[in-house]
Amino acid sequence: MEEKKQSLFPFPTVREGQKEFMNDVNRAVEGGKILIAHAPTGIGKTVAVLVPALQYAIENDKTVLFLTSKKSQHKIAIDTLRKIKERMDLSAVDITSKQSMCPRAVSVYREFYSLFNEFCKREQKNKRCHYFMKHDEGALRRIKGEIMHVEELCSWCTTRGICPYKAALDVTKDADVLVCDYNYLFSHDIAERVLEKLETGLEDIIVVIDEAHNLPGRIRNNLSSELRMKTITETARGIRTTNREMYEYLMQLEMTFKRLTREAAGNNTHEIRVERDFLLDEVETVLRRRIDAMCYTEFVDSLRHIAEGFEGNASSKHRNGTEAVQRNIITMADFFDSWQTEEKCLRIFSVAQQHDSPTLFFKLLDPSVVSEPIFAKAHATIMMSGTLCPTEMYADVLGAAPDRIKGREILLREYSSPFPKENRLIVVTKGLTTKYTKRGEDMYMKIAAKIGEVAKYVIGGMAVFFPSYALLKTISSYLPDEVRRRAIVERRAMNKDEKNRLYETLRDDFAKILLAVQGGSFSEGMDYESNTLEAIIVVGLPLSPPTLEVKTIEGYYVGKYGAEKGRLYGYLYPAVTKVLQAAGRGIRSERDRCIIILMDYRFAQYPYKNCLPPDFNTTFTDRAEEYCKNFFKW
Ligand code: SF4
Repeated sequence: MEEKKQSLFPFPTVREGQKEFMNDVNRAVEGGKILIAHAPTGIGKTVAVLVPALQYAIENDKTVLFLTSKKSQHKIAIDTLRKIKERMDLSAVDITSKQSMCPRAVSVYREFYSLFNEFCKREQKNKRCHYFMKHDEGALRRIKGEIMHVEELCSWCTTRGICPYKAALDVTKDADVLVCDYNYLFSHDIAERVLEKLETGLEDIIVVIDEAHNLPGRIRNNLSSELRMKTITETARGIRTTNREMYEYLMQLEMTFKRLTREAAGNNTHEIRVERDFLLDEVETVLRRRIDAMCYTEFVDSLRHIAEGFEGNASSKHRNGTEAVQRNIITMADFFDSWQTEEKCLRIFSVAQQHDSPTLFFKLLDPSVVSEPIFAKAHATIMMSGTLCPTEMYADVLGAAPDRIKGREILLREYSSPFPKENRLIVVTKGLTTKYTKRGEDMYMKIAAKIGEVAKYVIGGMAVFFPSYALLKTISSYLPDEVRRRAIVERRAMNKDEKNRLYETLRDDFAKILLAVQGGSFSEGMDYESNTLEAIIVVGLPLSPPTLEVKTIEGYYVGKYGAEKGRLYGYLYPAVTKVLQAAGRGIRSERDRCIIILMDYRFAQYPYKNCLPPDFNTTFTDRAEEYCKNFFKW
């Protein structure tokens, strides 16, 4: 069996660590287990998971769901599947969200799934979508027979006049593997529809979760929403003349926000915890004031109905203003609708500075309430990432710990990097920190001066990742002129094109130094080409301020796992994961060399030191520039 699997492997050699990973995937799929794998960049995770999972799936009539949150990973998965197909007969479908595949989706639809979904359903029901109406057996045969990137599938289907999403779903039942977003399994509504199309139950699915460190956050965000008072006020003004009844409801709700604001001021706080029933009761009270009172769900439906009425009603002269009102109404409808969830959520009213208007928001507290039942039912699950460390935490947080899912073996694995160890040097600097109590001009000047000293010796691309935009701005103002001349800066409001242009500047001009933030697009989402970054400085730790939200999540985990784990899970690890993501941008292939400077002495101290992966061999020094000089052999 081992030899057979390796003969299906579409590359000449199996890398160090890759074989071990493949064997573990094999054990997981054959034994119906859950594998949580910290597999550093370079192991070749995608092919290592797909070969054994697919072979088992094809022999045992299972389907592989390869879930990824990144567009670039869709591409890697499909390219890999094409290579595997040269040795094994298989069919695969690449699929993204319905609104991103729809040839008719205008910008507001791409932004609001609920509005788009209503539009799409209406068009289907009224037989007005000619893409949906057209059936093309020849096209389906081609999609089944070839392995297409989703962009190819969309443009090809659009040219033939058929709905790309429908065509992709129509062939999924014959597919051995579906490459799709996390939502296809972890968003209840979508998962139900997909499983129906697959004509199978979870017990026949092998789940592969790529970049799985993103999963807890994604599940939380799926069940979260916020509503700003400004949105209510602007919407009320926008419909004052056209819908007097809704205008009055909204003005009453604005009063609720004003009352909460006064209450916060009276208690000398920026945040107030609120209960689910508080808002439900407030809305019901407002609605009851009229003789022809409506209930909460009718109120939500009425908002959606008003938003739909905006379609095609505005002259182009007023289009922008109308779209803004429409967006606000959908935001409100989605918020009030999802607020009703009975899942355990943190619910907070905030007048804190980061919000430009008093804001009511909620967020799911425990992602395992969504993921655990899926892991319990699926045939096997493989979660993998280069920063899935510590694996035990992800098992706990996602509900895949041995004591949680009865009768399933859980494999926790940490593989070491296959790249030459001498290609990566990790230095922790003495005397520098962004710890709150040590912050000030003196510390910022020292950090800026050290960045300048290091930069003198870097040959090649360099990036400095700060814990926040505020610290990026402040510390940058102290940087030596030489660094400032070379700096290119990530801004909070940059759009996708601007970010791509910034990346291309960095890639094409080695003299440039990127100044960006941890947890942002340049430290997490962006895929750097080999050797783009040869030096990375991670300044400080992006620990969240002790907001009510952070304290609530930490408190929840303290209650569940005890004080030490609670603090690690709720507070420290999310920050360390951002640091590891930023630090990992330098080594993308065996040819890459990179020096990583963790510019905060806390990385050499308990408990932070213990949060770093086992293969992070760090040197603690106040002469980072000397290490840099030697690394680049000056
Ligand atoms: S049926 Fe297809 S083409 Fe028509 S609106 Fe819906 S997603 Fe778009």
